Amino acid sequence: MELILKNISYSYGAFSALRSISASFSSGDMVALIGQNGSGKSTLLKCINRVVDPSRGDVFLDSLSVKELPINRVAEVMAYVPQYAEQIRFSTVFDMVLLGRKPYISGAPTKQDYAKVAKSITQLGLQELAMRRVDTLSGGERQRVMIARAVAQEPKIILLDEPIANLDIKQQFAVMKLLQELALDGIIVIVAIHDIALASRFCNRAVMLKHGTLFASGGREVYNSDTINRLFDIEVDNYGSDYFDTRWLCGQQL
Ligand code: ADP
Ligand code: MG
Repeated sequence: MELILKNISYSYGAFSALRSISASFSSGDMVALIGQNGSGKSTLLKCINRVVDPSRGDVFLDSLSVKELPINRVAEVMAYVPQYAEQIRFSTVFDMVLLGRKPYISGAPTKQDYAKVAKSITQLGLQELAMRRVDTLSGGERQRVMIARAVAQEPKIILLDEPIANLDIKQQFAVMKLLQELALDGIIVIVAIHDIALASRFCNRAVMLKHGTLFASGGREVYNSDTINRLFDIEVDNYGSDYFDTRWLCGQQL
């Protein structure tokens, strides 16, 4: 499957948040969406899954415009993990993850639905918490519940908005590794992320946004000091391969 963004623009009133963003991704891609606060990462994710409609441009799944897809079909194909967990109802972790099966359930959930929910809960290391109320969990635990819900949905595309921001290092690695495995299974994973070292370690593609425009995109070669310095308006000499190598070694010891 191909996901194609064609000249996506989006404005909040008179403010132009995205300007003509084009990119295309294939099954198996794990894409890091990188850029300063306010550069348009969240807006782009919302344009892709139709939480908002682009002011101009279009999103295609293979040759089909996402606009032409019925909204429940969009929900089946794409899972979205927002930056801030939505208003948590008083449900258990298990029930919250079961919501991921909603596009597939007509009537009552089947054995397969329950099996998939149990598997996602295990994949996110939430077994001990499965019967806890979500509103009693820590921020990082809630974040993992939302990721488990997206995984249970068995989407073709998974969009995650800063999914590891609240997680400890161990959980950051666990989540990135799981996302990488999903990508290797043929899903397109797009993840807004601020940790450049983790992004360059796990993602095979990068899309860098600056002030709502496409600043750079490509493979691992785009994570070089010069590009990162210009992207973030910083001047840090050794924020290059040495820094990343150290972080990678740390990761391998975990
Ligand atoms: P990022 O996720 O990269 O931090 P966002 O996509 O959230 O950036 O925001 C891009 C820009 O659009 C920012 O300048 C932000 O202030 C603005 N913006 C986001 N949401 C709204 C909104 N609902 N109304 C007006 N401006 C918004
Ligand atoms: Mg954001």
